Amino acid sequence: MKLLTFLARRYIAGKTRADAIRVAKRLNREGLLATIDNVGENVTNSTESRKGVEEYADLLEDISGEGVDSTISVKLTHLGLDISDELAMENMEMVLEKAAWFGNSVRIDMEGSKYTKRTLEIFTGLAERFPDAGIAVQSCLRRSAADVKLLIEAGRSVRLVKGAYKEPTDIAFEKKADVDGNFSVLMKELLLKGSQPAIATHDEKLIEEALRFAKENNIDRSRFDFEMLLGIKRKLQKKLAEEGYRVRVYVPYGKNWLPYVLRRLTERKENIWFVIKNIFD
Ligand SMILES: Cc1cc2nc3c(=O)[nH]c(=O)nc-3n(C[C@H](O)[C@H](O)[C@H](O)COP(=O)(O)OP(=O)(O)OC[C@H]3O[C@@H](n4cnc5c(N)ncnc54)[C@H](O)[C@@H]3O)c2cc1C
Repeated sequence: MKLLTFLARRYIAGKTRADAIRVAKRLNREGLLATIDNVGENVTNSTESRKGVEEYADLLEDISGEGVDSTISVKLTHLGLDISDELAMENMEMVLEKAAWFGNSVRIDMEGSKYTKRTLEIFTGLAERFPDAGIAVQSCLRRSAADVKLLIEAGRSVRLVKGAYKEPTDIAFEKKADVDGNFSVLMKELLLKGSQPAIATHDEKLIEEALRFAKENNIDRSRFDFEMLLGIKRKLQKKLAEEGYRVRVYVPYGKNWLPYVLRRLTERKENIWFVIKNIFD
């Protein structure tokens, strides 16, 4: 656990809202935008889900009060999706209302595939009233091409990611090359026709491809964002920002950091080797 706590420092801003605000301010000073996530997925009762709403409301107030250039990122299971769709939707509506009050915007993260359909339905239901809200879509899922098409038609902002969850092979691409290939296809669709899409990857080949494609198609650098996670490819984040691209860094914070950090550690085999090596050192 000591090693995990040590490794968590790379990926997590800290345990408190103040930690997240401090990190987001530092990023802003470096020319980077932020999106802050209060980690705390899969709550199991409505009281916990309401605490999630309160924390996000306080976070939005702090972002505004401290003059930080940051949106927020929210998981629906943090707001009660494991309890009921109605509860998650009601809670998300409160968060969206608060964000609108502060002139800020919210991106709904995409969780494992058992939540995909319900997350998209809740998002679509709310996005009519909150058109600035955005959602993440995962290139590992076969359904995502159709989802991206519908979201583009509706004028919604999509964050394209590869996907961080282990998925059944009948609904997801198994080979990394296919996940990357689908990312490339969907990325180009979004760059051409999307509404302020976010290309959320640390994959330098795909980022190069996005840069090339945008240039070839005269897509202004203000019309899309690159997004990366706190603690990953920091030099690249800065380099892109210095070149005038919009780069937003995902800043997670909170006491329940373990599932988030485990996802970061397991998505790259070198990380796992690092953990194993250190356990036996
Ligand atoms: C802003 C943002 C928001 C996200 N939101 C979601 C979401 O809502 N739902 C979801 O399922 N997933 C989300 N993800 C995670 C995403 O799905 C991937 O799991 C993650 O980004 C790793 O994939 P990659 O695109 O960087 O490509 P990869 O091919 O996995 O990695 C490319 C290179 O990046 C570096 N790298 C990648 N990951 C790590 C790591 N953990 N530690 C150190 N170096 C690393 C390595 O150099 C690697 O070779 C998000 C990612 C970002 C950047």
